[in-house]
Amino acid sequence: MSGLFVELTAPNGRKYSQPRGLFINNEFVKSKSGETITSINPSDETEITSVYAAGPEDVDIAVTAARKAFKDPSWRDMDTTARGDLMYKFAELIEQHKETLATIETWDNGKPYSVALNEDLAEVTGTIKYYAGYANKIHGQVIDTSPAKLAYTIREPLGVCGQIIPWNYPLAMAAWKLGPALCTGNTIVLKAAEQTPLSILYLATLVKEAGFPPGVINILNGEGRKAGAALASHMDVDKIAFTGSTATGKEIMKMAAVNMKNITLETGGKSPLLVFDDADLDQAVKWSHIGIMYNQGQVCTATSRILVQEGVYDQFVKSFKEYVTQASIVGDPFKDDTFQGPQVTKTQFERVLSFIESAKSEGATLESGGEVYKDVGGKGFFISPTIFTNVKENMKVYREEVFGPFVVITSFKTEEEAVAKANDTTYGLGAAVFTQNITKAHRIARLIEAGMVWINSSNDSDLRIPFGGVKQSGIGRELGEAGLEGYTNKKAVHVNLGTKL
Ligand code: ADP
Repeated sequence: MSGLFVELTAPNGRKYSQPRGLFINNEFVKSKSGETITSINPSDETEITSVYAAGPEDVDIAVTAARKAFKDPSWRDMDTTARGDLMYKFAELIEQHKETLATIETWDNGKPYSVALNEDLAEVTGTIKYYAGYANKIHGQVIDTSPAKLAYTIREPLGVCGQIIPWNYPLAMAAWKLGPALCTGNTIVLKAAEQTPLSILYLATLVKEAGFPPGVINILNGEGRKAGAALASHMDVDKIAFTGSTATGKEIMKMAAVNMKNITLETGGKSPLLVFDDADLDQAVKWSHIGIMYNQGQVCTATSRILVQEGVYDQFVKSFKEYVTQASIVGDPFKDDTFQGPQVTKTQFERVLSFIESAKSEGATLESGGEVYKDVGGKGFFISPTIFTNVKENMKVYREEVFGPFVVITSFKTEEEAVAKANDTTYGLGAAVFTQNITKAHRIARLIEAGMVWINSSNDSDLRIPFGGVKQSGIGRELGEAGLEGYTNKKAVHVNLGTKL
């Protein structure tokens, strides 16, 4: 296959034209090497199509395009209200094409179509609209010092931003990064994850249709170690924003040092969920399920360590098992009642299975699941929702991020022990606390080392609210007003009004 577009019919019958190129300067082009990536449907392991994969030379061409666009008056000097309107138009186009975008996402990633359409796509349009609103509200300050001196600040864009996104929420993660970068006047080279290359290319068609000047948004597919590394180490890229694993985040941080790039990293987690004796147990059970099983467990904030106070431990485990059995319906992601589709790739599927083996060999007790789920046509990367109890703190499954429908449960006696156990991790992304005692809830929220705490819920995320981690879960914040900080510099201008000095 060598064309730049291919006509496809998705499993739900939707026909569309799938771009296959690299999107540079508002055009789809082939990669210089001709290399491609093949995208696999994780539900039945068939090939969907292949797309061109960028190498270092292509990255360089995209960065040059982005640099040129950054300096071009058509973007640099664009009236900020017009910039907001442009972003708003982009969001409206995404809204008009949301069924196709959600179809591609489900086909390529395996997430339930209802989730892709109603949650992911709503988040994409919501985020772009939210930041469109900020475009004409980015301004500095006048800082009074003395009558002889005037000082003011200008919030300037950083320049060319490299954005490296993961496969668990391909379009939503793109939107989280595009929104704040665009409204502040930056230009972008975005690299999608090689596991899910398709939806982002369809999004690229809407970039041109919305009317962004060429080179403002460039979108590449390509392998992390080739295209991603070329972007992170490029001397003419000013910033890298990355979402993915902690190990890759560390590598990117090192590469970004080459020209001292600004960095935002959103990496892994092993987030605790604490259930106290005085919790509303039905709520704790319901949110514990969402907190780990949503999106096939492929969520960086997943509350994958459940810690339950001794008084309600047995009751919690019993109710949780029953709830998971009834609510985690595994199946074809295009079917309406499916809660859990396949894992994204064979590699991820095998990784989760290896953690299941590890838990068994280290002596944890398998409460449910723990096996391949074969009832969806006998193919695909489906795993039964898996619960382990009797998990000890030194076990690999207690300490490492699994990124699947896999949860470990353990117990604690006192509040102090709960906090110590919650914080006994190299990660610090999210944490959930279930108690009906409001002072205890807020006391613990302060003591927990995490970027986000959910009281009586899990994994709430809202585009108006800062998202990010502490410790080895990341650097910087995305979303909300806080998300703008990662995309601007404050330039200070000193004006001398006096004549004596
Ligand atoms: P996973 O291990 O789940 O695939 P990664 O953190 O490796 O997650 O991948 C997230 C994103 O980072 C993807 O877009 C991937 O291509 C990219 N990536 C992976 N390795 C590197 C690397 N060495 N340099 C730059 N980007 C990378």
